[in-house]
Amino acid sequence: MTTHEQAVRGIAAILVSDLHLPVPEQVTVFVYDSRRVFERGLVNDANVSPARAAELSDFAIGIGKRRQLLLNDEGADRAGREWLRLIAHEMAHVCQIELAQGEGLAEQWLAEGMAEWVAFRVLERLGMDSMERRRTVSRSGIRNHAALVAARLDLETLGSPRGFTVRHRKEGSLPTYQLAFLMADYLIERDGFDRVVEYFRSFSRGQDRQGNFSRAFGQSIEQFEREVLAYLKSSVAP
Ligand SMILES: [Zn+2]
Repeated sequence: MTTHEQAVRGIAAILVSDLHLPVPEQVTVFVYDSRRVFERGLVNDANVSPARAAELSDFAIGIGKRRQLLLNDEGADRAGREWLRLIAHEMAHVCQIELAQGEGLAEQWLAEGMAEWVAFRVLERLGMDSMERRRTVSRSGIRNHAALVAARLDLETLGSPRGFTVRHRKEGSLPTYQLAFLMADYLIERDGFDRVVEYFRSFSRGQDRQGNFSRAFGQSIEQFEREVLAYLKSSVAP
């Protein structure tokens, strides 16, 4: 049986060695065994507001906070791919917070997309999945996604933690995360993973969202939105 500690340590080692991410020296891992206890833990152990905790615990089974990982392992297969994906995804958030020296500062779609990208890379490294398969699955997953059909990604809304939550509750969690993954993957393929890391780090020096994005990627968020929409439309075309 894989213990939670083994899983977290193994994944942290891959994040450091393969992706050079700044995994904190110490990360406290909280594991809860039901949705109700998880919700209470978000409030008591991670200082999440009661209203946000109720909302988060409704759809999430893991959260990465500053040097903290909070997981709800009710019914989880501890050696399974989905559980390891979750830990890697939340550990990526822990690293983003370390880079930015704060939570929820960067564009939320990029924070979520990069966390998915990192998680898929970890699974690929563990021989449990492949990046190419995830791309294929995600492309077909977003083919009929509302944002793509309407040709309006609205990165402004997807850019805030609250807006991202509203969108994935309205348009479906899976396709919204698949969309975020494909957009992050596009940026990473175009400019390199290190540039995305540098983008998160830039928030430790100042919290100008538009400025940090354009300095890191050489274009405004609006320009990127047009470019990535065209790419997504052509990549999902039958
Ligand atoms: Zn996430």
